Amino acid sequence: MLLQSPIENLPNTSSITIRKLKELEINSYWDLINYFPYRYENYSMVSAINKIQMGEVVTIKGQIKEAKNIYTRRSLTMQKIKLIDSTGSLDLTWYNQPYLLRILKAEDYLSVSGLVTRFKYELGLEPKDFEVLKNINDETIHTGRIVPVYSEKNGLSAKTIRSKIHYIVKNIGEIAEILPTDVVGFNNLVDQQNAYKNIHFPSSFAMSYKARERLAFEELFVIMLSTALIRREWDGEKITQRFDNSATILKKLNQFISDLPFRLTTAQKKATGEILDDMRKIKPMNRFLQGEVGSGKTVVAAIASYFAYLNGFQSLFMAPTEILAGQHFQTIRTMFQTSGVGKAVPKLCLLTSSNRVKKSGLVSADIIIGTQALLNEKIDFGRVGLVIVDEQHRFGVKQRAMLKDKAVNPHLLTMTATPIPRTVLLTLYGELDLSVIDEMPVGRIPIKTYLVPKEKRKSAYDWIRTQIKKNGTQIFVICPMIEESAVETMQTLRAAKKEFEYLSKEVFPDLKIALMHGKLKGVEKNLIMQDFKNKKSDILVSTSVVEVGIDIPNAAIILIEGAERFGLAQLHQLRGRVGRGEKQSFCLLFSESFDEKSLERLKLFSKTTSGIQLAEYDLKIRGPGDIYGEKQSGYINLKIASLADVNLINKSKNAVSFFLEKYNIEDYQEIENRLEEIKKKQISRD
Ligand code: ADP
Ligand code: MG
Repeated sequence: MLLQSPIENLPNTSSITIRKLKELEINSYWDLINYFPYRYENYSMVSAINKIQMGEVVTIKGQIKEAKNIYTRRSLTMQKIKLIDSTGSLDLTWYNQPYLLRILKAEDYLSVSGLVTRFKYELGLEPKDFEVLKNINDETIHTGRIVPVYSEKNGLSAKTIRSKIHYIVKNIGEIAEILPTDVVGFNNLVDQQNAYKNIHFPSSFAMSYKARERLAFEELFVIMLSTALIRREWDGEKITQRFDNSATILKKLNQFISDLPFRLTTAQKKATGEILDDMRKIKPMNRFLQGEVGSGKTVVAAIASYFAYLNGFQSLFMAPTEILAGQHFQTIRTMFQTSGVGKAVPKLCLLTSSNRVKKSGLVSADIIIGTQALLNEKIDFGRVGLVIVDEQHRFGVKQRAMLKDKAVNPHLLTMTATPIPRTVLLTLYGELDLSVIDEMPVGRIPIKTYLVPKEKRKSAYDWIRTQIKKNGTQIFVICPMIEESAVETMQTLRAAKKEFEYLSKEVFPDLKIALMHGKLKGVEKNLIMQDFKNKKSDILVSTSVVEVGIDIPNAAIILIEGAERFGLAQLHQLRGRVGRGEKQSFCLLFSESFDEKSLERLKLFSKTTSGIQLAEYDLKIRGPGDIYGEKQSGYINLKIASLADVNLINKSKNAVSFFLEKYNIEDYQEIENRLEEIKKKQISRD
């Protein structure tokens, strides 16, 4: 049996299950055993019936003596099973699951795990999980051990996933070790074989931790190795021509900066200095510029492109959307117009699907602004000296690959407002040089954030109406999802469509309300945003698709429904939609949650304006042991490692240096394959 076997080879598996697995991108046995449990149930205490005690969680193995359906009042049913072993008999009770009697029949051998409770005067068992055995001594999978619990995605039950993984782990034979033995030994890791066995079916809780540690180490090791190799390669690259740094050029640069209508902040100056230093080198810059929305990254990028221009090079400025490209174009144009840099003003050009430019225009332009699609345009890439990528979470991985295909090596500046903790950046993206703008221009009015208590909803709406009527303020209302899902979230979730109807009909029938959500086409979204910007509506009800969007300075209030459903970083991003104008802006958080922890988180959010502080807090409260939710952290999809586990991150990092010094990567085919996988994933996600 091979780990690469397609899941179609799984015995006793329906085509529906296969299809569902494939939809989760689980195509091989290997993929499946890399679907890790998020917690375990301890059903390992196997007990004789006469030894059980009230309150214990135990597993009992026995034979079914009797199975019957009992009808109670109000047409409820109860399934009663009498189980016997050599020491006694025990009643098992289920409620309203009559189908069980088709599975559990008298004479069957049964292994059942559950909570011992008192039922009238006798002890009984409240079953949690069970399995029918062919023979009483058969190996159990779902009971009688530490049982892995998998998240139930795409309609696959944890039980199905568990059975399939059990089959693979049991039959796989040897899983080859991918790390050198001294790395395994030095870091006190369990070998790969044991790691896979014990992450799924641990022989003890201690072993499950060891397994998790090992697999997390490996995951971090491969990511950091990939980063280190990129860095190595990058360090060997050269740009076409070193930038001239003569006094004349410096003078013009300084002139441009002093002609700006404002003084650069200290942080902007520092970042600018770091960028210009990089651009003077023969090695292409690979710098990452991080700064809150409104911290003034665009100016810094403009200075860099001016430097490229003064050296006779073109700059490409890529925004995530066409609207944002248009916005950048305006901003940068104003900067150069108001500056008195004499005749030496670069020619700007906006290139989008609705604003096509002839080839001659592209050739003569000095700064071309557009979206990522720029890289597919007929541009003379030999003349491109600087590429700026704005709002990219994955730091231009794709752009870098595309440029590489064109055999050019311009300086690269990637920018983001996404607050990513420094530790995360440096560990996962160690190949980048990092500049941070950690200060806002003076005179900004910080956004006021409130967690609105449930009973104040009505008065909040009244206040909003006044703000609209009196001050002409525009409002964002953010909802977590568009369609109400049928599961337990029904009461708490105010789906955008419903919310839109509710607000239009019940709350603000006198106001103009628009709706936007992610299922709309790009053009439609643009249109709605443009209309909102042109004040055609007072309120924009939206899902979180407005996260990265256009500047609407007149929108000074954002109301977020179901706020507890968002991560702090995402909330912060949403809050950044307001506070762009002269008015005092507000962020109102609504939550249906009663959970202490969520509310505390939201309270902290209302008191903190720094995105980085929030991201760091988010990372900290999750803690290394907490494996929920972090995968969607937005930085990178980690399967098992935790970004909060600084210890393990350091260990892996040291191991990478050790490995690179001592070994030849070519001798480690399996590791190379993993690196390929990472590259593919990063590029396809970008
Ligand atoms: P970011 O791209 O980081 O979100 P921008 O570069 O778009 O921010 O800047 C936001 C606004 O702040 C722009 O209108 C810009 O002109 C202005 N700005 C930038 N730097 C300063 C500064 N040092 N002082 C005052 N205003 C500034
Ligand atoms: Mg920006």
